[in-house]
This record gives sequence, C-alpha cells and structure tokens, in this order.
Amino acid sequence: MPPETEPRSPACRADAEALDRDDPLAPLRDAFSLPDGLVYLDGNSLGACPKRTAARVAETIGREWAHDLITSWNRAGWIDLAARIGDGIATLVGAGPGEISVGDSTSVNLYKVLHVACAMQAADRPGRRTIVSERGNFPTDLYIAESIARSFGLELLLVETNGGAGDDAAIEAALDERLSVLMLTHVDYRSGRMLDMTALTRKGHDAGGLAVWDLAHSAGAVPVDLHGAGADFAVGCGYKYLNGGPGAPAFVWAHPMHPERMDRDGTAQPLSGWLGHGSPFTFTPDYRPAAGIARFVSGTPPILAMRALECGVSVFADAEALGGMAALRAKSLALTACFLDRVEASCPGVRSVTPRDPAMRGSQASLAHDDGYAVMQALIDRGVVGDFRAGDDAAGTPNLLRFGFTPLYTRFVDAWDAAEALTDVLASGVWREPRYAKRAAVT
Ligand SMILES: *Cc1c(COP(=O)(O)O)cnc(C)c1O
Repeated sequence: MPPETEPRSPACRADAEALDRDDPLAPLRDAFSLPDGLVYLDGNSLGACPKRTAARVAETIGREWAHDLITSWNRAGWIDLAARIGDGIATLVGAGPGEISVGDSTSVNLYKVLHVACAMQAADRPGRRTIVSERGNFPTDLYIAESIARSFGLELLLVETNGGAGDDAAIEAALDERLSVLMLTHVDYRSGRMLDMTALTRKGHDAGGLAVWDLAHSAGAVPVDLHGAGADFAVGCGYKYLNGGPGAPAFVWAHPMHPERMDRDGTAQPLSGWLGHGSPFTFTPDYRPAAGIARFVSGTPPILAMRALECGVSVFADAEALGGMAALRAKSLALTACFLDRVEASCPGVRSVTPRDPAMRGSQASLAHDDGYAVMQALIDRGVVGDFRAGDDAAGTPNLLRFGFTPLYTRFVDAWDAAEALTDVLASGVWREPRYAKRAAVT
C-alpha cells in the first residue's frame, strides 16, 4: 500500500467544484439513485441504492422466480451466489478467491467464528482465560462475545476506549498469557478511528491468541489486507459501504488454514446447518462440513437480498478500472479532510473525535456536541443527512454527530456544503427549536 498523506483541502466552494471535475472516480456517482439536492453522509449506516439494483431484483422476481421457479437454483446460479459475491468482496479486503462466504448477519457470523476460534484455543491452549475487546466496540459484537464467553467459561476483558480516541497501547497491554481470542472492530463506529490491524494481530499472536476482526466500517471504505495482516477470522457488513440494501447479508472469512485444521480435528462451526454440509442434497443424517469457507453457511440464503448485495458489490468492479481501492482511499481521506478543515475553520468550539492522522482515520468524520441529536435533526431538515450516536458517560465517550463519506458517490461539494450547513445551524441556534429534540426509534 502506498504511504498515506494528508491531501490539500479546498478553500472555497469553487475549489471543491474543481476537485470534483478532476476526480477520476466522479463517474461512479451516476451508478447510484440519490435524490436531487440531498447531501447523503450516512453511507456508513445504510449505503445508497445502486441504480442497477431495482431492475436486477425485479428480474430475479419476474423471470427467475415467477417463471423459472425452482430451476433457478441451478439455471440462475442462486446456489453459487454466496461464493460469487464473496469473491467480489475478497478483492476489497485482501482475501483470496473462495475464501469469503456471504449470508446471515454480522452478529450471526461473528458468533460462528468466535465460537470456532475459542474451541480451537480450548483444544490447543487449555487454560486460556480471556476474550479481549474494546469497551467502545459496537454493542452487538460485545453482546455476542458475552454469550461466547459464557459458553466457554471465559472472561470478556474490555479495554477502555479512551473516549473513542482509542489506545492501541492499552489493547496491547491486555494481550498476555491469558489471551484466548482478540476480537476487534477495525474502524470504530463512533469515532472513525482505524486500528493497526497488522501490529495488533501480531501482538495477539505473540501472546498465543487468535485474532478476529470486524470489518463493518472497513470493507469498501478503506484498504484491508487480511492475509498481509495475518488475521485469523473476519466478518463484515453488507448494507454499509457495500451498498447491499437494508438488512443485506453479511460476510465471513477464515484464513484457509483454519477450515483445513477443522477438517483434521473435527471442529464444527456451531450453526452447522444443511447448506454448509459437503453434499446437502444427499440428505444424510450426519453432518460433514463443506470444504473451506462454505462450511460457514447455515441455512438457505435470502436470494432477493443476495441479488441486491451482488449489485452493490459489482459497483466496486466498475471502480477497479478507475483506480480501485487505492483511488477510493485517496478520495475518502481527501473528503474527510475537506470537511474537517472547513468545520475547524468555521465552527468554533466544535471538536472532532476523528483522528487527523490519515493512518488512523477511517471513512467518516465524527464531531462531539452535547446536543448532537437536535443539531443533526436540524441538519437533516436542511438536506444534510448524517446521524447521531449517543455518548456513554461511563466510557467517557461524548454525544456525536457522525458523517460518513462514501467515495463511490460523495462529492467534494457535498463535504463543503455539509460543513457550511453545520456552520449555519450552529451559528443561528436553529437546532434549539423544540421540534428538533423529538426522538425517533432509529437514530
Ligand atoms: C453495523 C455493525 C454491525 C451490524 O451487525 P448486524 O448483525 O448485521 O446487524 C456489527 N458490528 C459492527 C462493528 C457494525 O458496525
């Protein structure tokens, strides 16, 4: 990977327009349906809808399902979709072909790989006591780890996240002879801080542990090199930067040595369902896993959702011809820098919790604000869509305004206009109007 340098930021809107004109990735925006006049900065929570998705899903319903019916499992390749989409995702995260499978949710996939990792450690290194993660990790990851820790009689050891700013040294300090599994999210969902996957995986291995990585805010957003980092297992999300649609299936990766080892010693993944069987259509009463990652499939995949995810992932194949993940990363850093520079210059007192060091920054910018909820509602009212994440006093994390920058479709003028709108909302105090304080079910 090339060294990451801080790009130059625009000084006025015309500068931002010029950056858009010079942007080699600019044509990709046309692959997405985005309402006119909307600045959409929430692709880190729900990615935008590719234009090709509606037609492809309609064809899957109208022809493959309504007309061809059950023959589509073979004729339309439904049965291979999990592996085919997985191969597309593999190119984005430094995995090999045949190493990623798609299906279930991130939570369910995390349960499977964490269970397998703990089972292997119990066999190889009995007496290991801890699953190590961060207190500020995404809650579902912690809830799943709690469940696994209970099953294996382990302790879930949570390193303080230091207000979202993160502390690699504190994580490293927890990696000792008690370590069974290190489970981390590569890019923090609150602060957008990126961990050093290679260094932390190595430290985990040095301590005798295995490393499980959640790529929910990484896949399609920042370059990831699972093999280069020596990671053991990874999971990730289909509906964020991969633009697979609401509730899109998630993905799962295991280093190929682990399925081989599972074959040797008979370790099974815990949700050992029939479609992860080596020959599901022989309908034998005993479970024999499929080779490789395919064993991490449990039940029948949701084909309509898989089709939509396939469309989302296929946009990255278009991006490949325009510079691929390296170009996307350069643009993402330039977008977040543009936004943060402008906010710093025009919103006095607003503090970014997102690291300015490009090596530690994901593809989002998060700003601390006590009344972040109301401020975000006022921004949304002006056509700038980000989101709000509540802080946690116990963990010392502040209330946050989150802005996700998806380099596939976000323009420099969007970053510029969002900063201007925020400046205006804060300076005018319009966010104090009572209607902006009313909470909805989903924030
Ligand atoms: C979004 C996200 C998830 C989502 O999990 P689901 O089970 O797919 O709902 C999990 N982990 C992290 C870190 C996330 O950001």
